[in-house]
Amino acid sequence: MTIVTRFAPSPTGRLHVGNLRTAILNWLFAKAQGGRFLLRLDDTDAARSEEAFVAAIRDDLAWLGLSPDGEERQSARLADYERRFEALVAAGRLYPAYETPEELDLRRKILLGRGLPPIYDRAALKLSDNDRAALEAEGRRPHWRFRLDHDAPIAWDDAIRGPQRFDPAAIGDPVVRRADGSWLYLLPSVIDDIDMAITHVVRGEDHVSNTAVQTQMFAAFDAAPPVFAHAALLTGSEGKLSKRLGSLGTDHFRDVGIEPQALIALLARIGTSDPVEPIADPALLAQAFDFARFGRAPARFDEAELAALNARIVHQLDHVAVADRLPPAMGADAWEAVRPNLSTVAEAADWWHVIEGPVETPEIEDADYLAQAAKVAAEIDWSADPWHALTGALKEATGRKGKALFLPLRLALTGHAHGPDMAALLPLIGRDRAIARLQAAGG
Ligand code: GLU
Repeated sequence: MTIVTRFAPSPTGRLHVGNLRTAILNWLFAKAQGGRFLLRLDDTDAARSEEAFVAAIRDDLAWLGLSPDGEERQSARLADYERRFEALVAAGRLYPAYETPEELDLRRKILLGRGLPPIYDRAALKLSDNDRAALEAEGRRPHWRFRLDHDAPIAWDDAIRGPQRFDPAAIGDPVVRRADGSWLYLLPSVIDDIDMAITHVVRGEDHVSNTAVQTQMFAAFDAAPPVFAHAALLTGSEGKLSKRLGSLGTDHFRDVGIEPQALIALLARIGTSDPVEPIADPALLAQAFDFARFGRAPARFDEAELAALNARIVHQLDHVAVADRLPPAMGADAWEAVRPNLSTVAEAADWWHVIEGPVETPEIEDADYLAQAAKVAAEIDWSADPWHALTGALKEATGRKGKALFLPLRLALTGHAHGPDMAALLPLIGRDRAIARLQAAGG
């Protein structure tokens, strides 16, 4: 059996970090199993779905490097839904209901006032043909509800949450189609999951109650349900569901210099019993992916943790992976020299400017030493390891060591008290620029 997962966003807005996590978990599981990962656009809501969001979703997946093995759109499948709809109407599993939202609201309030759960009372099931004709004559058009089977207990073994049970009688029959003929998400999703042979539905735990009714929809179509895995929701670093998470998408992460591999490495592991590790190759994360590792406690998403992980990922990236984001003349040697000091790839350009100059030398009260260093720098062999040649000769000549030996040189040569390893940087700065900088600092 080929494992097939799907990421099923509604293109009614930009993806946020919670959606990105769902995409990543679906991709990782499919890859772990040698299966297929589909992008399914849940675009039955014509009024709110936009092509611009469809394009943005594709771009987000491309940026993450999660290329779908296929793409489906619900708006292209309306004829399939219609066919299945008629079959369920004929089987008595869908029924027309005529209440207005105001009427339903009033009934809910009455039930709540009596301390009862506000579930639909199935009044529409009691309508006679004549009643319905009369309502239609008034100009009312029905919406459609799925009749839950109260005698078929709802149960599934969730790959993350374990055994789940719901009493169908405690759930109201869900509306699946509106009076204008448009679809709500529940039923088309089940039809798609059947037709696309989805084996695993991986999504957030906010969908658990949808799954409860959807299991009966699979049964109504005589289809075996897929395996469900409902991941605990993300919370912000302060441990609460935060509004901020809903606003964080790929644009933000890209702007602050987060690499897609860092986001994947974090989102693959938070909420699991595995440690968050700087694993830059998502295929390695996929290898170790297992729903059994996921806990039921909310997964804490911490931007500071992401930034720290990002730095450790950046330190592993090859020049070819970043060249298009570096100053054009910055080669592999310069990238490798500065890479251990970076938090983001963009910072490499700052060090490239230090290498190329001009640098602004801070006031250094060590002019004689630096003048001497300029002279030594003119005499050493620059072909092998000029930093050790320079500091070795200066150590011998002055008796200095440690900070007194190194720091004035670093300041004069780079204009910074900290930075990449000077042994790697100095050959890139080169003889002429180095001598000029030491002379300038030497007064
Ligand atoms: N379109 C639904 C959503 O974005 C899909 C949920 C699902 O994965 O079935 O919430």
